[in-house]
Amino acid sequence: MCIHHSRTQEDVLRKQLDSGLALNMLIADCHCSCTGLRLMADWPVPEGLEGGTGLLRVQATWARASNSACPQYQAARARPGLWPARRAPRSQPGLTHFSLDPVMTLLDLVEHDGLTLEQALTQVRDGRTEIRPHEGLLRWGAHGAARYLSAGSAVGAGSGWAAVPVSRPWVMQVKPPDGGTIYELCAWGRRYESADGEERELRLPRVKSVKDRAVDLGEAAAAAMVLAYGAVALNQSRSGKPHNLREAQPVRSIRVVEVGCEDGSWQEMFSGSPQKARRYYDEHAKARLSAVTAGGEYRPGDDCAGCKLAGTCPALPSRPGMLGIIGTGPVRTWSSRTGGTTRHAPPRTIWSAFTSPRARARSRTVRSVAARPCMPGSQAATSAPEPRRAAPRTCRTLRTPGWPAAGRSPARRLA
Ligand code: SF4
Repeated sequence: MCIHHSRTQEDVLRKQLDSGLALNMLIADCHCSCTGLRLMADWPVPEGLEGGTGLLRVQATWARASNSACPQYQAARARPGLWPARRAPRSQPGLTHFSLDPVMTLLDLVEHDGLTLEQALTQVRDGRTEIRPHEGLLRWGAHGAARYLSAGSAVGAGSGWAAVPVSRPWVMQVKPPDGGTIYELCAWGRRYESADGEERELRLPRVKSVKDRAVDLGEAAAAAMVLAYGAVALNQSRSGKPHNLREAQPVRSIRVVEVGCEDGSWQEMFSGSPQKARRYYDEHAKARLSAVTAGGEYRPGDDCAGCKLAGTCPALPSRPGMLGIIGTGPVRTWSSRTGGTTRHAPPRTIWSAFTSPRARARSRTVRSVAARPCMPGSQAATSAPEPRRAAPRTCRTLRTPGWPAAGRSPARRLA
């Protein structure tokens, strides 16, 4: 008994030493990377921004191979301490157009507060949460959350340990001893760990099915790195300040999984040790994440609406009044395609702003959800083919306080 106890203590000590050594090596290595990033941190701050560049924060999703965002937008976004000298008007707090926001809020209430999905839905509808989603988006959120939860036991069976939901994010942070630029790597998603905290898992909710989705090794590697060497964040990442972190603890194994909220499909993106995560990071993510802090050309597009540089960007021409709007509200985007969609069915414009499944929506449930976020007086519309052509339906009332009425705000970014 005594020998067993002593061996257990030795094991724990050895694991801590191994892990501590790996973490120190990683910090040394990351410091080199960080030094490289610091050179890139010499990115000339464009005119119109103010604040500090002492913090570089990147997200695992930015390491995706498909990341084609404007380089200057990315460089500015990676520096949360920089803000436009003249801040643009902001949307009403709580209005969300990201289709996974309601899914995440509902899952938080279920996994962290112990509510049923129905109870969680009532809380959001009653305005007792931070977000105020459009009713149509909330319906999609309920569907997505249910599909996510339905995949839980199958996903969990693949890990071999009981997954406990973790509410606080893990953040990997490198603070150079000379007090230079601080480097943070974060990973969005739903977090789980084993009872002893030595196994960590990140589940990434996806809007669509992941049945035919190719695993993005860059994103998987960056997320695995956060799980391997990240520590629990004790505060929100607001005001451009670095996270306060709890002391890092050793991690034995990591798993990254993506789950399709359209149909509950799932697939493993990464599984292995912290050492493997580090190798993957070097191979698939490091160069990409370094590049997003480097800046470069101006590439106008969808990113402009949320860009800190939109007010002063030399590549974004200003044509006041062109759409008959004297802009005093939040920035919105508009395209000729948006105009065509709005002319055909105004509610579809609002629905398309939510980036929810549409063209690939095949199930009756999703199709019916996609058909509902319409406004009074307009016809229900969905891009999914109907098996039988039914008589045109008039929408039922789906008004959500704060949300625009049909045809009034056909913008992708809603006020
Ligand atoms: S406004 Fe558009 S083009 Fe200019 S930096 Fe931002 S995203 Fe790039």
